[in-house]
Amino acid sequence: MSKIDLHCHSTASDGTLKPRELVERAVELGLTHLALTDHDCVAGFAEAREAAASRLQVIPGAELSALWEGNQIHVVGLFIGLEHPELKTFLEGQLKLRIQRAEEIGSRLEKLGFADAYARTLSLSGSDTVVTRGNYARFIVAQGKAVTVDEAFNTYLKKGRKAYVRTQWPELGSVVEVILHSGGVPVLAHPLRYDLTNSKLRRLVQDFKSAGGRALEVASCQQRPCDREYLSRLAVQYELKASVGSDFHTPQQWRELGYNLDLPATVVPVWQCPEAAEYQFMTEESLEQ
Ligand code: AMP
Ligand code: MN
Ligand code: MN
Ligand code: MN
Repeated sequence: MSKIDLHCHSTASDGTLKPRELVERAVELGLTHLALTDHDCVAGFAEAREAAASRLQVIPGAELSALWEGNQIHVVGLFIGLEHPELKTFLEGQLKLRIQRAEEIGSRLEKLGFADAYARTLSLSGSDTVVTRGNYARFIVAQGKAVTVDEAFNTYLKKGRKAYVRTQWPELGSVVEVILHSGGVPVLAHPLRYDLTNSKLRRLVQDFKSAGGRALEVASCQQRPCDREYLSRLAVQYELKASVGSDFHTPQQWRELGYNLDLPATVVPVWQCPEAAEYQFMTEESLEQ
């Protein structure tokens, strides 16, 4: 049977494990399939695949930042075509936006007393590519200005706080489109983390579906059973497939690669789409055939 995790981060964005360390951890935990989904970045994939060799299927992915009705939304692209020119151009644009934003966050933090915030966050992260607010949060903790990453967000980085910078990410529809054009499957990431009312979330899911979205991230590891049921019902109702993802960033209790990600029988897993065929998913259904 497969043990699957389709959402995690490496040092290519705001994770703390190098791609090859992530793969070793996944292999030790008995995973059979891992999608590396760094923020707006695919730089970790080659190292992950090479480290995995034949021990684990590494699926090419990315977690892309988008705007929907002014809200920052994340779309995970799975099975994406890493060499597709449109995707490459898109990722270059995202990187530019991220660098501008990271510099702006850095200068705000400097005004708040953090010297050389951008340069020091870069070197702390070991990231030569993409700096997210997650990287800044760890920098703030390392400076002793917050005890936890959560506190760093609440004090400095979240919407409304002094180092928050609004970003003009591309609209949801164009993000979905570039994933589709590259041959990938667009998945709406962690739908309950956007602080939307139920009716607004339904509108988001409807718009995502209309734009060509194919799956909802239904299972995550620190989730209440009622939330997983709710997302499963949404997936069924909007005829979207279901994905699973720990959103692993760093070793910590309760958020582990492949942990607690079982899907209910009512949904159709995303690995049953044609794009997944070459990755040898072994599921109860395929074993029964
Ligand atoms: P960004 O894409 O730069 O806005 O950063 C988003 C990342 O920051 C997310 O993927 C999380 O890893 C992290 N993040 C966002 N909000 C929080 C929070 N309240 N506590 C901890 N991490 C957070
Ligand atoms: Mn992150
Ligand atoms: Mn996310
Ligand atoms: Mn993520």
